[in-house]
Amino acid sequence: MIKVRNLVKYYGPTKVLDGISLDVEKGERIVLCGPSGSGKSTLVRCINGLEQRSAGDIEIAGHVLKADCSNVLDLGGDVGMVFQQFNLFPHMNVLDNLTLAMRRVRRAPRSEAEAQAMAMLERMQLGARAKAYPRELSGGQQQRVAIARALCMKPKVMLFDEPTSALDPEMVQEVLDVMTALSREGLTMIVVTHEMGFARNVADRIVFMDGGVILEEAAPDAFFDHPQHNRTREFLRQIG
Ligand code: ADP
Ligand code: MG
Repeated sequence: MIKVRNLVKYYGPTKVLDGISLDVEKGERIVLCGPSGSGKSTLVRCINGLEQRSAGDIEIAGHVLKADCSNVLDLGGDVGMVFQQFNLFPHMNVLDNLTLAMRRVRRAPRSEAEAQAMAMLERMQLGARAKAYPRELSGGQQQRVAIARALCMKPKVMLFDEPTSALDPEMVQEVLDVMTALSREGLTMIVVTHEMGFARNVADRIVFMDGGVILEEAAPDAFFDHPQHNRTREFLRQIG
């Protein structure tokens, strides 16, 4: 579902990704972790074509992403992305946030888009808030709207970049619960997170980045119980 080969990314003179190769199978759930500045966000943004790369090859959901990302629109809704800061449209109500891309990208008729959006909101237990504006919702609700919006496009892959890092502590679990439910439905997921309980429960594989490289990857039990590198042990100590 995802194939990354020798991905290199410079910002100006600074190399922030230094030869990343990663394969993700259909239905696989990857947790990506590592210290701040290690390149996690840059990696997922490159995979999604939000950021141009300096070298390397990327295939995602059956699309070969060109180096200049000129075919990024071909990804359409096949790749969903959820950000730390929700990125909802503040001037649109919840329902319109959900239906916009379905109508513009998928060319769905309004009635069909709204029916799909309402079904998704019910699943997120947000059916009663369809006409609310993002500012009227809690952070946890806003993030669940953002997840619902991505799911409305029926993505083949979902990328989450620290989806709970901006939330008040009491709202973290409601978002993790939604993500855990999704993981059980066979959706291919890459989740950047420091929530190691979630990682242990949900991930098929943990990928640890440091300094723009993948330093270590393993199944959760091996990763947490027998980390191979000092940097991994140090990281686990700091966040644990
Ligand atoms: P992480 O998500 O693991 O914290 P990032 O991918 O955000 O790491 O950042 C990796 C490195 O790239 C950091 O050193 C960061 O300062 C740098 N960086 C990220 N985005 C930009 C940008 N738009 N311009 C310049 N440097 C950037
Ligand atoms: Mg980041």
